[in-house]
Amino acid sequence: MNSFSADIAFNLARVRERIATAASRVGRRESEITLVAVSKTFPAEAIRAAYDAGLRHFGENRVQEWDSKQSALADLQATWHLIGHLQSNKARRAAFLFNRVDSLDDLSLAQRLHAAADAEGKSLPVLIEVHLGGEESKSGVAEKDLPGLAAAVAPFAHLDLIGLMAVPPFFEEPERVRPFFRRLHELRDDLASRLGRPLPVLSMGMSHDFEIAIEEGATEIRVGSALFGARTANPAQPVTQ
Ligand SMILES: *Cc1c(COP(=O)(O)O)cnc(C)c1O
Repeated sequence: MNSFSADIAFNLARVRERIATAASRVGRRESEITLVAVSKTFPAEAIRAAYDAGLRHFGENRVQEWDSKQSALADLQATWHLIGHLQSNKARRAAFLFNRVDSLDDLSLAQRLHAAADAEGKSLPVLIEVHLGGEESKSGVAEKDLPGLAAAVAPFAHLDLIGLMAVPPFFEEPERVRPFFRRLHELRDDLASRLGRPLPVLSMGMSHDFEIAIEEGATEIRVGSALFGARTANPAQPVTQ
């Protein structure tokens, strides 16, 4: 128990209700949807409280920030996801610190990550992040370049391509994001048939719009503020502890 525990347990119960309600609307089971707790800007104690409340997947968007927190959490058996843009000079460290990279969007980055995973002696599961239009998100591969990137990444022995991720534009009215989620689902299905292998993971939906994402087939949702509260620190700045 720490100062975050009560709020996070309360918020998690609410999020789980929202997941269950959305899933049942479309005849899906809650257990089909993995909740990735996005802990960026929050301290290690908040992550520990979330872990104690039952969460086992965590997303961080900056390598350095996670590097500064991870040693305090080395005893936790969780899956640590990198969900933010990765600079290739940090690929080596990322392959060491994370169990999954959800934001792969470039071939030279994939090559570096592959070499780093090879050096670590591991196979790193990855998602390709797709840029679905809109100005807000600058990361992600353009739709037209997705098949080429996926075909190049698929044979890498130390990267395991398991699905797609996207951060669509933000709309006040969550219903307006539905076409973007539907599009990512279609792109995943097309790509799986082109590659002749399953791509089981579809990571889409955040605090504001995850119900719509679940209705459109999300297998993972990435939820920050609805679990941890509003972020006060500027996520563009490294968190100093
Ligand atoms: C911050 C972030 C989230 C979570 O956003 P919330 O609106 O706080 O739920 C999800 N995905 C990515 C890529 C993020 O950077």
